Amino acid sequence: MLIRHCDIARYLTSLDIFSALIAALAHDADHPGLSNAYLIAVKNPLAITHNDDAVLERHHASTTTKILGETENNVFSVMNSDDTKHSRKVILAAILGTDMSRHMEHVTALHERAERKSVTPFERASSSDRISLVTHIVHCADLSAQTLPSNVSEEFEGRLMEEVRLDEERSDEMIALSISAKVTHASTSVQDAPHPLPNHRKNSLSTFQPLLRFASLIVVLATVCERDC
Ligand SMILES: [Zn+2]
Repeated sequence: MLIRHCDIARYLTSLDIFSALIAALAHDADHPGLSNAYLIAVKNPLAITHNDDAVLERHHASTTTKILGETENNVFSVMNSDDTKHSRKVILAAILGTDMSRHMEHVTALHERAERKSVTPFERASSSDRISLVTHIVHCADLSAQTLPSNVSEEFEGRLMEEVRLDEERSDEMIALSISAKVTHASTSVQDAPHPLPNHRKNSLSTFQPLLRFASLIVVLATVCERDC
């Protein structure tokens, strides 16, 4: 939609678009169906490997690298070394950019570009601008499920709500782990233990929360990119 209606492609090279498609395809590669918060709380090996930082996104990125490293999947084999380097950069940045904790970073960055009235929002000659743009597009697309036809969006919603339900079940386990860690250290009393995780997700993470997040991003992204159409 962005490419068709806003002609975003004019800011990108065909290599950027190709890399964006690979990132979109692989951005959830080998997803275990568990949240970053849970993986960190239970000290899952993935959290340890990735130092509790964007655990899943880093795992998806490294899984993608491994998959693309296999001879039959090696899309880089037809590229020269500069293109390979750039394409890898785009793919990895876009996958890491799907980390929801970075959502406001995307929105703020786009607002800042929208405010820079004297220059074009993205410079096609700048590889870092093109990488940023692809990162915003892939994050935006990742949130777009609720804009799809109802039979598809309902399926997405059902799966999302199931994930949320399982996350809530696990949150008790996370609280227990957190409390026992504090008690073991004996420097804090049980009274200092964290309050139970707010149950806000039950009510607020409905169809509308992802839709609103998507809307907050698409509006500013479309505005920025259409500005000098
Ligand atoms: Zn996704």
